[in-house]
Amino acid sequence: MRCPWCGHEQDRVVDSRTTESGAAVRRRRQCLSCSRRFTTFERMEVVGLTVIKRDGAKEAFDRAKLIAGVAKAIKNRPVTEQQVANLADRVEEKLRRRGPAVTTQEVGIEVLGQLRRLDDVAYLRFASVYKDFQELTDFEREVGILLQKRDTAAAPKAGTRSRTRA
Ligand SMILES: [Zn+2]
Repeated sequence: MRCPWCGHEQDRVVDSRTTESGAAVRRRRQCLSCSRRFTTFERMEVVGLTVIKRDGAKEAFDRAKLIAGVAKAIKNRPVTEQQVANLADRVEEKLRRRGPAVTTQEVGIEVLGQLRRLDDVAYLRFASVYKDFQELTDFEREVGILLQKRDTAAAPKAGTRSRTRA
């Protein structure tokens, strides 16, 4: 790390500690040339999340858009703004774990999964808008198929975790 005082490029770390609940590492460094100290912060790069639409077009994940979609579904329902914010947090977290690219179907399924716990009516409303289905049975069948696909896709990853027995 280049010394901000003299421009020398070598230093030693004199102290290192995590901050922001583990989200960042703060390092106190001492320049090997002028001996003055400076601080660096190291944090995880925020990785972009891409949503792939049905027509193949890609767009950046938009939390506001997700919330707007949920807001329509919860209209006149006993669901608070805070609950919607929490829902958006959970959905985004799950999608990021699966990312860097997810399909609109995956986004929809995650939202549905969270809405189902929150409010049945909101869940059904979102489901009907999301899939534009006339009949609930159609929708449930579709979700079942999608969930199966997702589980199949996730299977190889799970396999790598299992250890070979000696
Ligand atoms: Zn220096």
